[in-house]
Amino acid sequence: MQNTCFFRNYKALQVILVLIFTFSPAISNASELNVYSGRKAKLIKPLFDRFHAETGIKVNIVTAKSDALIKRIEAEGESSPADIFITVDAGRIDRAKKMGLLQNIDTTYMNISKNYIDIDKKWVGLSKRIRTIIYSKKNVSNNEITKFEDLGKNNWKGRICVRSSNNIYNQSLVASLIINHGEKKAEKIIKNIVENFAKKPSGNDRAQITAVAKNECDVAIVNHYYYIMMLNSKDEEKRKIAKQVDINFLNQNDRGAHVNISAIGIAKYSKSVANAHKLIIFLLSKESQEWYAKVNNEYPVNENASTTDLLDSWGKIKLDDSVINKLGDLNTNAVKLMDRVGWQ
Ligand code: FE
Repeated sequence: MQNTCFFRNYKALQVILVLIFTFSPAISNASELNVYSGRKAKLIKPLFDRFHAETGIKVNIVTAKSDALIKRIEAEGESSPADIFITVDAGRIDRAKKMGLLQNIDTTYMNISKNYIDIDKKWVGLSKRIRTIIYSKKNVSNNEITKFEDLGKNNWKGRICVRSSNNIYNQSLVASLIINHGEKKAEKIIKNIVENFAKKPSGNDRAQITAVAKNECDVAIVNHYYYIMMLNSKDEEKRKIAKQVDINFLNQNDRGAHVNISAIGIAKYSKSVANAHKLIIFLLSKESQEWYAKVNNEYPVNENASTTDLLDSWGKIKLDDSVINKLGDLNTNAVKLMDRVGWQ
């Protein structure tokens, strides 16, 4: 009698479970994670494959521009299949946070500096990228520029190249100046720099490096890894271009060079929170960090992870990382400031 009853209940439970898993899009497969990534798949997928092999948790990846993914998560609402969101800029991940699209991360087992963790624990950094200058070896001497602010001086008139103001890397850079100097002084500095632009901003960071090699300008503001990417390129032409320039890390005697992060957060309506944490802890491990940072020549956020020989040869670089947490807060101010001073 008891057995029959148990059997009936068990059958009923099975039917209920089948119904739940078949008809509820809100419940995702427990052994899978869905990652929405603003970062290209080739720069992260091999790690997801390794995670799958180690844990049995399969990681599906959807890649697109970060803003498009933010819109998608917002539109999908509570039925969003997204578990994880990855961006390549603190400003973007903070936008998702401010829109209420991320949930709390338990950072207990995440051994990284607090500067690389959101103050409200809605995101954590995965890698560091330095936005600095490259300069023409022919026309500029080593250490001629030591501070970002110096780019506003008269002697740089018509000599600076940089991409447009709608680029998030530039917006975060300007946000960092507002945090460090206050809005009024930051506006003066940026206005002077914009007046020194060699041409109307266009193209990506690699295009700015090419423009310096072509003598269209003498200095360009870029993320450090684009320079390395060109130095290591299979394309001889790109290698030639990179060899005509050198890199300099600014503000080493004061606040440190401007640094940004690729970052990760857990989507608000993820039903696989425990597995999402497992994935983040995996991505922050020494081994993952070494692979992840090296594949794009970035700096790991895990201090125990080693960097590439080239990055090692550059020595320890002082970073302005105490402001990372506020870059998103100042994004709107930065965009408006850039508009006021005519940074196109
Ligand atoms: Fe980039």
